[in-house]
Amino acid sequence: MNIAIAGTGLVGRVLALNLLKEGHTITLFDKDTKEGVTSAGFTAAGMLAPFAELETAESVIFDFGNRSLELWGDLIKEVGLFDGFKRRGTLITAHPQDMPELNHFIRTLKHKVEKAKDIKLLNSNEIEKLEPQLSNHRQAFYLKDEGHIDSQRFIAFSTTYLDSMPNITWKENTHIDKLEAGKVFYNGKEESYDWVFDARGLGAKEYFSDLRGVRGEVIWLESNDIDISRPTRLLHPRYKIYIAPRENGCEGIELDYCKDCKIAQTSGAKRYIVGASEIESEDMSDISVRSTLELLSAVFTVHPNFGEARVVNTETNCRPAFKDNLPRIENSDKITRINGLYRHGYLLAPAVVEKALNEGIRKVVA
Ligand SMILES: Cc1cc2nc3c(=O)[nH]c(=O)nc-3n(C[C@H](O)[C@H](O)[C@H](O)COP(=O)(O)OP(=O)(O)OC[C@H]3O[C@@H](n4cnc5c(N)ncnc54)[C@H](O)[C@@H]3O)c2cc1C
Repeated sequence: MNIAIAGTGLVGRVLALNLLKEGHTITLFDKDTKEGVTSAGFTAAGMLAPFAELETAESVIFDFGNRSLELWGDLIKEVGLFDGFKRRGTLITAHPQDMPELNHFIRTLKHKVEKAKDIKLLNSNEIEKLEPQLSNHRQAFYLKDEGHIDSQRFIAFSTTYLDSMPNITWKENTHIDKLEAGKVFYNGKEESYDWVFDARGLGAKEYFSDLRGVRGEVIWLESNDIDISRPTRLLHPRYKIYIAPRENGCEGIELDYCKDCKIAQTSGAKRYIVGASEIESEDMSDISVRSTLELLSAVFTVHPNFGEARVVNTETNCRPAFKDNLPRIENSDKITRINGLYRHGYLLAPAVVEKALNEGIRKVVA
């Protein structure tokens, strides 16, 4: 089929990788450049946390999340990013005075899904075996089945891979005005396709009147003195933070934006993404003082060596979400729309795309 995908952020890329394998000819459209650096998918920390997210999410997120954990390995290899998907589990810790809150958090997860019954409470000796530098914490829960994606490198590697494919045409810097079944409208033109996918995230408001953006801010830290190998969360009554390791920096990325990059990793230093705020606003401006203070104070309490880490980058973006914070798939003849992945894009995208394709275009092709 001759297919159009509008939006080459996270969902658009996962769609393209799937459809390419099935032999289709694809035209990709994005209002920005191929590098995808303005998409929410580029800002994201790439945490794959089906258990931890259960505190506030529905069990459907857990089911999709577990399916995505099965699917990510092949997608990551497909784009040549062999070290971009880790499944080392997550550590969740809290200050001693907040331990009742952490226990309540884990009880909530155990109440929601059977699999959460295996979540283990570790003492400081057990923590030391997993993360030697975090043995200053007396207790932590270990969610062994969770993982994380090196999200910025996934976006970069998928740019190079998709751009090299002969049956892909990439129309960057092209704003889509409207999509209809089998039709794409842009620059005053109308083009026809056998099937059209709407993966414009927050840019699809023209169609979804109930779509909203939820502002999120992250801070990138670099340090020679901190070595944490798996995502770590700190539970706190006012702000919950995560620390997502980025041990491979920008290795293997050679794209246009690398020329101007001010944050090339210092040799030997480790990088971490600390996030993320969650604010009901579509303001995409720089990180606020309040969020900076909250995120950095919290990370400093996880390990005092973070005090000497260098702040190398901050990013702000908005998560596309509906009122129920659940993903939405709309399939009809010749058009599929996928949106509302909220704070779970990496956790959900492979499984949501699989469902959308199975219930839409694959039925027609079969
Ligand atoms: C701070 C932050 C941290 C996050 N951390 C995580 C995490 O740890 N784990 C996780 O699972 N998820 C995380 N997410 C969520 C995840 O990033 C999103 O759910 C996901 O990116 C949504 O994917 P999408 O493809 O719908 O939107 P996007 O990734 O934003 O892509 C949409 C694309 O459509 C393009 N576009 C928009 N309008 C138009 C138009 N009219 N014409 C042409 N192109 C258009 C945009 O330029 C963009 O490239 C995080 C998000 C944020 C903001």
